[in-house]
Amino acid sequence: MYKKVSTTLDFAGREKDTLAFWKQARIFEKSVELRRGAPAYTFYDGPPTANGKPHIGHILTRSIKDIIPRYRTMKGYDVLRKAGWDTHGLPVELEVEKELGLDGKEQIEAYGVTPFIQKCKESVWKYKGEWEEMSDRVGFWADMENPYITYEDNYIESEWWALKTIHEKGLLYKGHKIVPYCPRCGTALSSHEVAQGYKDIKETSATVRFRCADEDAYYLAWTTTPWTLPSNVCLCVNAHVEYCRARKDGETFILARDLVESVLGEGAEILDVFPGSDLVGRDYEPLFPCTGAACAKTGKRGHYVIADDYVTTTDGTGIVHNAPAFGEDDARVCKEHDMPFIQLVDTRGNMCGGTPWDGAFVKDADKLILRDLREAGLLFAAPEFEHSYPFCWRCDTPLIYYARQSWFIKMTAIRDRLMEYNRRINWIPETIKEGRMGNFLENVIDWGISRERYWGTPLPVWVCKDCGHVHVIGSRKELCQLAPGTPEDLELHKPFLDPITFPCEKCGGEMRREPVVIDCWFDSGSMPFAQWHYPFENKELFARRYPANFISEAVDQTRGWFYTLLAISTCLFDEPSFQNCLVLGLVQDKDGLKMSKHKGNVVDPWSVLDKQGADAVRWYFYTGSMPWLPSRFSPEAVSEAQRKFMGTFWNTYAFYVLYADIDGFDPTAHALRRENLSPMDKWILSRLNSLVKAVDAYLGDIRITEAGRELQRFIDDLSNWYVRRCRDRYWGKDMTPDKEAAYMTLFTVLKTLSLISAPFIPFMTEEIYQNIVRTVDK
Ligand SMILES: [Zn+2]
Ligand SMILES: [Zn+2]
Repeated sequence: MYKKVSTTLDFAGREKDTLAFWKQARIFEKSVELRRGAPAYTFYDGPPTANGKPHIGHILTRSIKDIIPRYRTMKGYDVLRKAGWDTHGLPVELEVEKELGLDGKEQIEAYGVTPFIQKCKESVWKYKGEWEEMSDRVGFWADMENPYITYEDNYIESEWWALKTIHEKGLLYKGHKIVPYCPRCGTALSSHEVAQGYKDIKETSATVRFRCADEDAYYLAWTTTPWTLPSNVCLCVNAHVEYCRARKDGETFILARDLVESVLGEGAEILDVFPGSDLVGRDYEPLFPCTGAACAKTGKRGHYVIADDYVTTTDGTGIVHNAPAFGEDDARVCKEHDMPFIQLVDTRGNMCGGTPWDGAFVKDADKLILRDLREAGLLFAAPEFEHSYPFCWRCDTPLIYYARQSWFIKMTAIRDRLMEYNRRINWIPETIKEGRMGNFLENVIDWGISRERYWGTPLPVWVCKDCGHVHVIGSRKELCQLAPGTPEDLELHKPFLDPITFPCEKCGGEMRREPVVIDCWFDSGSMPFAQWHYPFENKELFARRYPANFISEAVDQTRGWFYTLLAISTCLFDEPSFQNCLVLGLVQDKDGLKMSKHKGNVVDPWSVLDKQGADAVRWYFYTGSMPWLPSRFSPEAVSEAQRKFMGTFWNTYAFYVLYADIDGFDPTAHALRRENLSPMDKWILSRLNSLVKAVDAYLGDIRITEAGRELQRFIDDLSNWYVRRCRDRYWGKDMTPDKEAAYMTLFTVLKTLSLISAPFIPFMTEEIYQNIVRTVDK
């Protein structure tokens, strides 16, 4: 009657049969179709990039992303699970650059932008097959056949609409700003990108002597970036702090009084003390002739002391060297004091403009500059120090802070709303709300969205070259109206849009597109509406599927996708675009170390999927530790989790089938009769009902680990107490009322357990359910 149950624990092998069954019977599609019109439950899939191979961390995210929608589907909801692909951006360009043997923007342009972006478009799909296979294999049920793709014209057009709306709200502007800039990629990075690339490094800092022009003394200033010294234009003190002249080894230095000992060491003699305001306006000599020359060219007076409250005495000397091209505070105070602006570093991060180190990369120039200062007697000390410094998250080049023209979304203007909407989101764990995310929002800065690159959503901003008038295009139609002759099916990418011009509505001058693309994080953050080509199509669908009930990604997305979703929906719709967010910890190796190729401790996802199987990996991720904590992943840990739960479950099921088969027991021909139940039957059925209630409540609250641990406790009770104590009840010859009760109890437990565990371990539960229920109940 029942299919014979193999007692081997070859789950992985059996999972392949289940996969084939799902596919052949279109079970996922049916589970969706059957619930059309039911109350909606919406899951947003944070789009992965298919130009990188999936790794073990992606198995974690796919497992977590699957369980909640599966659970909701079983609860009768119409659950949206549209897969998506993140396709634009620097990572893709870098991959193609490598493939074509190009290095940098000049070589890309020589190669040709049209073939280059064509290559990008192909490269995006490099690992698509592997991603699909992996998603399939772990039982990630999502609509992979109709995914949203961020490079498609419709998707881009929705983003244009968004950018125009943001512009109409007065939140889009072009600014000269100090931006974190990758000199290799030749583009600015946004603050959330920068946040991803900090490393602790040792560098040489410099305490520099600036010779006073009006007395025989030196101002001492400390800098961590010696390469900015040639672009120095002034020194900044705090007017309200006490400074002093201090004598050491026959020389006189000016610095903050509180810092004399830490800078000069013991034995310095303090000659006199005065407020910082006494120093304001006093001249000093430029450190280098090239600095003086560059300053003279601007026609402005530089190289004197100014004051601002941002200067503190927590470290350094209490005197700050200002280079307005390379520091945010520097830029602000120098602007306020109308200082000259000099930038002796080019866009590739090399020294330029007539310095003795022209052509050297800034970080290499540090050593040369220190050497020359030392020779000139202007270096007081060059202490090594360790600090956290940002690197390009893609190409690992040290970033520099650099004055660039860039387009920004004015996030600072909506900070209060961002913080309010953040509080409306159910963050799991809750600490993210006021912690990682709250802190980030409290210090939110304007979002630099333009990228001086090629493969991305083109910024739809046209500017008049005569009067500077700005026009933001919000649709293809609008572009075709303003620039007649533009083909309606024009691909919305660089370089095709760049030659399109139209007359300025203010002065008749020529409107030209700002030739930049935008941050690809704007793409993924736009998915709530852009996946539907909203507002051009699907308005009802969008309304039904917004906001998301559930999203989940790894913790590094707090300042990434989670932030951009919130930022964009706040700009456009004045509300958060997701209600519940489960933030996942990182997957580490068994010793708690980060997995890296370098350390050789990377676990290939397929080695576990092929051996232990998908259920086992899923179960491990659900129950090994709370999902937001880092998990110490190893094949052994997966096997252990598998044995404890799935092994016990499977053995109990095999036990039932073995005896039911001997007795030809068909549960559809029997009933669970209360009057015949033994105390053990009543106990396990009561435990079962409590279990259903608990697991349902936990999954409803997205408390996956707690739900899994209830299941584990139950299976232990079932096997160690119920089956062990009741074993002989199945041995008797005749179908007595007691034997019937024992069979029906065990059958009820196994059937219910296979349903309630299905969101966790869908493969094994499918097989059990098909065998014990469907073979008899057709
Ligand atoms: Zn870079
Ligand atoms: Zn104009």
